[in-house]
Amino acid sequence: MEHRKKILRAVCLALACLMVLTLVAPLASAFVFAEETPADKLQQAQEALDAIEDEIESIESSKEAAQQSKAYYEQLSNAVKQQIEAQSALISAQQESISLKQDELEKKIAEVEATQTLFDERMKTMYIQHNRSSLSVLLGVTSFAEALRYIENLQYIAQSDTELIETLRAQKDELDTVIADLDAELAVLEQQKADLEAQKQQYVNSVTAANNEISAADAELAAKSEEEKELQRLYEEARQEWLAWVNDTSGSDVILDTGYFYWPLPGYYRISSDYGVGRWIYGVYDVHRGLDIPAPAGTPIYAAYGGVVSTNAHWSYGTCVKISHGDGMVTIYGHMSARAAGISDGVTVTKGQLIGYVGSTGNSTGNHLHFELDINGSPTSARPYLDPNIEASLHY
Ligand SMILES: [Zn+2]
Repeated sequence: MEHRKKILRAVCLALACLMVLTLVAPLASAFVFAEETPADKLQQAQEALDAIEDEIESIESSKEAAQQSKAYYEQLSNAVKQQIEAQSALISAQQESISLKQDELEKKIAEVEATQTLFDERMKTMYIQHNRSSLSVLLGVTSFAEALRYIENLQYIAQSDTELIETLRAQKDELDTVIADLDAELAVLEQQKADLEAQKQQYVNSVTAANNEISAADAELAAKSEEEKELQRLYEEARQEWLAWVNDTSGSDVILDTGYFYWPLPGYYRISSDYGVGRWIYGVYDVHRGLDIPAPAGTPIYAAYGGVVSTNAHWSYGTCVKISHGDGMVTIYGHMSARAAGISDGVTVTKGQLIGYVGSTGNSTGNHLHFELDINGSPTSARPYLDPNIEASLHY
């Protein structure tokens, strides 16, 4: 019985172990593949920040374009508004003249009618008088010559009345023509005003569209600015992590995971001052911290190993590039004439990447590269990390 219990316990233990393994194993392997160095994280944070800053810049420039377009259409719209006001004044004046002419016309019509009525009355009277006078001549009431003069007189009056009516009718017709012309002119003015109104509406629509664009850009900018703040926070976090990693002095035996150092000055293997050699420089005794490799000014310098760039160095190094490879390992390239394009703080470089050019800046008496390896902040010989073939070709 006791024996069976023991077996059961062993089986249970084995099963439990198996369970733990199946749970942990995939997790562990996922960790290995997903592992990123703080330098990778810093690079990613920088890229994300750059990307959002580009986006913000692009939104800002489209907002600026919308503002310019708005100002442009507002100006056009105001100009057209003034034209419309001028046009309205012209139309009012035209309507005023038409109304004056119409008054004139009405008076003229009344005059024609009144004259006509008078004329008709006279004609009637004349007819009666004529008959009467003919009769009175026949009856010998008055002399024939007298009657004739009277008739002539009446005929003269009738004729001048007819002429007056004709003149008045002609004046009335003339007024009709003038009013018709004025009406036609008014129609043209009104059409022009309508065209201006339509044009103004187009400009107003363009201003509205620009306003909408500006509001949309503002909303987008507000959102992106929040995102940017968050990315800036993440970047700062990543940078602090990176700084801690770069300055980490806990690592000891550094093992490079992909081969030897790349020789930073291919073709130049003469060492003018070796690592660890004591020497007097400007009256100060110093142990040399690296290898001095003479080469003509402008000779390209390559990264010995991949890592993250820092440019902060003691003045004596002149124009300098430091590359942190992690685990407290840093290579230093001093006295450069210039750093290569794009090589600045926080930039990740790969092994063999161009980082700068030979010069004689800082505490230097001639063109050469000062190549130094620090581990945990202390200068260390770079020789153990060099390809044996390169190591063999170095000479003094
Ligand atoms: Zn040196």
